[in-house]
Amino acid sequence: MTEVAERTIPVQERPAGRPLLRPGNTNCGGCGMSIALQMFGRELAGQPVQLVIPACCGAVAAGSYPFTAFGVPVVLSTFASPAAVATGLARVAALNEEPIRVVCWAGDGGTYDIGMGTLSAAAERNEDVLYICYDNEIYGNTGGQRSSATPLGAATTSTPVGKPEVKKDILAVMAAHRIPYAASVSLAHPEDAGRKFRQALAARGFRFLHILSPCPTGWKSEPAHGIQLIRLAVQSGLYPVLEIRDGRQVTINVEPDFSDLALAEYLAMQGRFRKSGVTAMVLRDAIRQHWEHLRRQA
Ligand code: SF4
Repeated sequence: MTEVAERTIPVQERPAGRPLLRPGNTNCGGCGMSIALQMFGRELAGQPVQLVIPACCGAVAAGSYPFTAFGVPVVLSTFASPAAVATGLARVAALNEEPIRVVCWAGDGGTYDIGMGTLSAAAERNEDVLYICYDNEIYGNTGGQRSSATPLGAATTSTPVGKPEVKKDILAVMAAHRIPYAASVSLAHPEDAGRKFRQALAARGFRFLHILSPCPTGWKSEPAHGIQLIRLAVQSGLYPVLEIRDGRQVTINVEPDFSDLALAEYLAMQGRFRKSGVTAMVLRDAIRQHWEHLRRQA
């Protein structure tokens, strides 16, 4: 009988500095998810991590069997089940007294829509899981259909003249579960982002991070403009950068200047808003109302 050599690297010995996303992955150029993975990977500092990735661009990024572009063990799950799978992995790690951090890495479709049932259930049980949603505001992996994260006026393959509904407020949904830590992460503010990644990795219980993730393919934007787009979204107040502890304590991390110019530029730099003609003026009132609500909570 041929003996098969044991090639598994014990998780405790995983070397620091090993990239989370390796070269050769299949992500589009300028993909915000690639940037987010690299930023997150830098904060791991050799910590043993298991990723759970549902159907999304992140699942495709790994490449074809038997290769993988991820530098850590990954379980691919169905759209609906990442938080349930992560729950099982986290409980096994706890039973074995292994210091593994279990991380869901999911797109907006698997988070806001199809995976919401298991996500809500794991959050309600306060499972020891870090759930990170990279939000490219469409189902990028299945043809660019609208999700409930797609913003008002954005054209997708299933809303060709622009989505008529507003984007779901996922942080408010998660905060309503009273989880220990929920935060939005700006890729244009790396120090704040790094601190949040570290904090979320170190904390116990259910943690949720939301990352607005530029998608040149779906946003019809230049691959090189991703970080500038996020900076404009934050500056204009469209993407609030904040933390919520225990569902109650809101801290605003970056103060916007509510610039209409920034908002107009954000819209103009993306082809997806052209057909609906949504303007800064159309969005301004909703942004102000949202911020008034946030300030009352802060
Ligand atoms: S479709 Fe968008 S999210 Fe998916 S890999 Fe390409 S740029 Fe990234």
